[in-house]
Amino acid sequence: MSDKTFKALIVEESEPKKFTRRIGERKISDLPAGDLLIRVHYSSLNYKDALSATGNKAVTRKFPHTPGIDAAGEVVECTCGRYQPGDQVLVTGYDLGMDTPGGFGEYIRIPCEWAVKLPDGLSLRESMIIGTAGFTAGLCVWKLDRAGVEPDAGDVLVTGASGGVGSIAVSILAKQGYRVVAVTGKPNAGDYLRNLGAAEVIGREAVLEGAERPMLKERWAGVVDVAGGDLLAAAIKATRYGGAVTCCGLVGSPDLNINVFPFILRGVSLLGVDSVQCPTQPRLAVWEKLAGLWKPEHLEETVTECGLEGLEEKIQQILKGAVRGRTLVRLL
Ligand code: NDP
Repeated sequence: MSDKTFKALIVEESEPKKFTRRIGERKISDLPAGDLLIRVHYSSLNYKDALSATGNKAVTRKFPHTPGIDAAGEVVECTCGRYQPGDQVLVTGYDLGMDTPGGFGEYIRIPCEWAVKLPDGLSLRESMIIGTAGFTAGLCVWKLDRAGVEPDAGDVLVTGASGGVGSIAVSILAKQGYRVVAVTGKPNAGDYLRNLGAAEVIGREAVLEGAERPMLKERWAGVVDVAGGDLLAAAIKATRYGGAVTCCGLVGSPDLNINVFPFILRGVSLLGVDSVQCPTQPRLAVWEKLAGLWKPEHLEETVTECGLEGLEEKIQQILKGAVRGRTLVRLL
């Protein structure tokens, strides 16, 4: 088995700071040590994968490298006794696809603790349409819920709504009965977002209006933000008394220029969301929800599918913020 070769996307630093991508062959014996060898059936493309694939050293330090922070497939070998060959598992986060060869290869080898047994109610394909983006959306909803933002509390704002995290957040929230206001920079994404369940679709400028003021009129009971920067600051300033804002992304900017008034005068909570090192208990709880009560109703409508060969185009698109919904990567 260890001499067996398999197909993978390989990113190389051909000269300092110049990165090239090709589909090549790797050996199982090249994979790092670990107790779980998995034949990957599906992966998915996330923004972070595009950063890794283009040599962003904040994500991946060692090249050559195979990105892919998500993977779902069948156990081939397990030396810790937790899984049997043929068991279906999914993996998101930890070091997968960062400095550990990831889901854009037909095999991965990882520590057992990184894997989650595929929950009843999800297929491997569905689990990767959800992937890290959907799991992160699930964590955001979980945190809003625990902060007391109930479906009847008022409007919930979702930024970057047509992207991966945003699309799944809109779907989950709408299914739970929240009134979702979707923010998008794509003029033609309205029908798509209303179909996912958004009650209202607005442009980014509508959130940013008057944002230079210290506080804005109370509008949002809750916020799922992937943008950071000015959009997040404006959303916090317009969050209603006792509301909560989840912060998981930085597609707009990693900066946050805000004052303390929303926190000390309206009791607004800013909740950080990390899917990578998320502890096992909330990880399993959120995946159970995603497979059951929260399972997005329009999963197939959010997905574009490609093989390893189609990834290059999709990587360029996601870097420009031009991807709609989720990109599923097929490795079978
Ligand atoms: P996508 O590229 O799929 O979606 C991002 C969306 O954000 C775009 O489609 C676009 O949607 C919107 N957008 C793009 N540029 C800007 C901008 N300048 N200002 C405001 N909105 C913009 O990415 P993902 O959904 O996969 O990830 C979103 C973010 O969340 C990323 O920063 C990612 O790194 C982060 N993330 C964090 C995780 C964590 O654990 N904390 C896990 C997963 C993701 P539209 O056109 O509709 O506005």
